[in-house]
Amino acid sequence: RVKRGGCGYALFESEMQREQHRRRIMQRDVGLAVDKGELSVVFQPQVDARTVAVGGFEALLRWKHPEHGSISPADFIPAAETSGAIIPMGAFVLREACREAARWTAQLRVAVNVSAAQIVQADFAQLVKDVLSETGLAPERLEVEVTESLFIQDSATAKMTLQEIKDLGVSVAIDDFGTGYSSLSTLRAFPFDRIKVDRSFVSDMINNSDAAAIVNSVIGLGRAMGLRVVAEGVESDEQVAMLRLLRCHEIQGYLFGKPMPIGAYAHLTGPKHPR
Ligand code: C2E
Ligand code: CA
Ligand code: CA
Ligand code: CA
Repeated sequence: RVKRGGCGYALFESEMQREQHRRRIMQRDVGLAVDKGELSVVFQPQVDARTVAVGGFEALLRWKHPEHGSISPADFIPAAETSGAIIPMGAFVLREACREAARWTAQLRVAVNVSAAQIVQADFAQLVKDVLSETGLAPERLEVEVTESLFIQDSATAKMTLQEIKDLGVSVAIDDFGTGYSSLSTLRAFPFDRIKVDRSFVSDMINNSDAAAIVNSVIGLGRAMGLRVVAEGVESDEQVAMLRLLRCHEIQGYLFGKPMPIGAYAHLTGPKHPR
């Protein structure tokens, strides 16, 4: 057991050490990424399920580390949340996304992911207000995407801030719906404008009847509550066909476009205004 396992264990351990090393570097560097200009924003289209017309884009962060190359937000956002770097980082992506969207000639929406740690900051609503006036983006064209984790702690502050943002005319989406602890009570906690059905359900819905039943129910629930429903992670025509059948409003996924620098979507956003 010791002999056979020994080699495998050593390999496992060195991989773990490498992983730990990577995590330490990330913790160390994530706070500097904004100031060093290593962050960028990519955009992924959200399309009408029936007509495939683009209604907006989701803005997603990218970090290019000088030594470690491109690091996924799935890895660095948690690190940024622990270190507090999410605050300047969140302000960066909000500003970039709004600045970009304000230059599009097509009146498309832009959706920005916002962490719980940002929302509970006392001046978050003010930041949104400032960025809107600074960039000239109409508030109706901005959407913030939040997750259920927001409503676990300090939900009173969260609700108040989100309401302030809504009062500006900005819309609010609940992201990764169905993966949290108390999805249904989250829906009652706040008047959301949009529900995003998590990719895990969408990916499985063709081969798994339980996943399909969940997608069906979330769409029905969203519709009954007067919300727009977006399915995320759509990769195949079969998924599109089923989502149409289930009367999902919008879809987002690699099938229609990967997250890319906005220049790749210039044909959709319209000719750029001169800088
Ligand atoms: P999310 O908000 O659920 O974003 C969707 C993720 O799914 C993105 O990963 C996107 O690239 C990926 N995706 C989209 N369509 C498909 C598809 O058809 N197939 C597959 N396999 N994946 C697809 P990404 O860009 O790596 O972001 C991961 C997560 O990091 C996001 O999940 C979000 O929670 C977080 N994140 C990204 N940007 C920001 C940001 O600016 N602020 C905050 N707070 N979080 C962010
Ligand atoms: Ca999102
Ligand atoms: Ca999501
Ligand atoms: Ca997700």
